[in-house]
Amino acid sequence: MSVAVVIVAGGAGFRAGGELPKQYQFIGGRPVIWWTLKAFVDHPGVSHVQTVIATGHEGLFAAASEGLKIASPVIGGATRQDSCRIGIAACENLETRKVLIHDAARPFVTAELISHVIAELDRSEGVVPGLPVADTMKLAPGGLVERTVDRQGLWSVQTPQGFDLLSIKAAHEKAYEQKLEGLTDDAAVAEKFGIKVRVIAGRVENRKLTTAEDIREADQFLITKANSERLDVRVGQGIDFHEFEAGNCVVLCGVKIPHDKKLKGHSDADAAMHALTDAILGALGEGDIGAYFPPSDPQWKNVSSAIFLQKAIDLLDARNGIISNVDITILAEAPRVGPHIAAMKDLLSPLLHVSQHRIAIKATTTEQLGAIGRREGLAAFATATIRLP
Ligand code: MG
Repeated sequence: MSVAVVIVAGGAGFRAGGELPKQYQFIGGRPVIWWTLKAFVDHPGVSHVQTVIATGHEGLFAAASEGLKIASPVIGGATRQDSCRIGIAACENLETRKVLIHDAARPFVTAELISHVIAELDRSEGVVPGLPVADTMKLAPGGLVERTVDRQGLWSVQTPQGFDLLSIKAAHEKAYEQKLEGLTDDAAVAEKFGIKVRVIAGRVENRKLTTAEDIREADQFLITKANSERLDVRVGQGIDFHEFEAGNCVVLCGVKIPHDKKLKGHSDADAAMHALTDAILGALGEGDIGAYFPPSDPQWKNVSSAIFLQKAIDLLDARNGIISNVDITILAEAPRVGPHIAAMKDLLSPLLHVSQHRIAIKATTTEQLGAIGRREGLAAFATATIRLP
């Protein structure tokens, strides 16, 4: 029997402190939500994955979920409760009786836990994974202890929470009609309307990533795991020169920089991306960019150089490799590159599947020496470190 999953990613996630909402920050070279979605997409018992996102996050979500077989996201409401109601409603026409609801910020959910929740739904209307509270609990309003709370029978609950689809849908609709607010999980909505909810054993690693420290720790954990499986460390270099010609902008690392000239070349002539592509191909021991994309072939005329870089990444993926870091230097008198480095990193990070702190982009001049000093063209140099199994 098929099971629908609602992934709740509506939060703006300000607590994590990064520039991006926490569900879109990178851990182990992928956005947090990618790991979460992947766990459900790969589970044989799950037939439909419906995500609820915040308005304005459409582009972020599209990039984070590229290549995953999931439904188009729906836009959530002002609160988690509201977003869940909207996500569940989006599943109502599916041929399924079971729905799991899961936080996007819990990327370490295991296949075993998903299976356990689904199996338990055969005999329960509602199921939540939880951990028995081990610490002594104090009630301390305003920071002053009022009394000790008996922890006997107390559970700290997680997601995925599983329900009979029609029951939880009806409960959410009633809560909405009755303007019941502040229900922080779906089990709380279920309780209000008499749905019996059973607690099963959760997993310590299925924690919710909430703070900037949680994100850092998760990243370190995934990188250490990936590295331990890939001990063959290789370095590659790439160098590219392009001449200027009449034009109005220069493309470097995929970013258009306004200028009174353009770079001459068959594609978009993005010298920095060409150097980076050659560095990755070099680390793999493959031929250079021209071997895969001959300049004599008219189909590469005016194309974005991102497709060349993607080819190198595909070759790396095919060998189950990962990038450790890349370092790019652009040598030019003009245009000024510095103000565009942040945009370049935004663009390269998802393509390379590495966090921004593993990408260096620098610019320098030749102190007006030589052809580059005379502003006849520019050059780009790149180094890439990769790890292979
Ligand atoms: Mg080139």
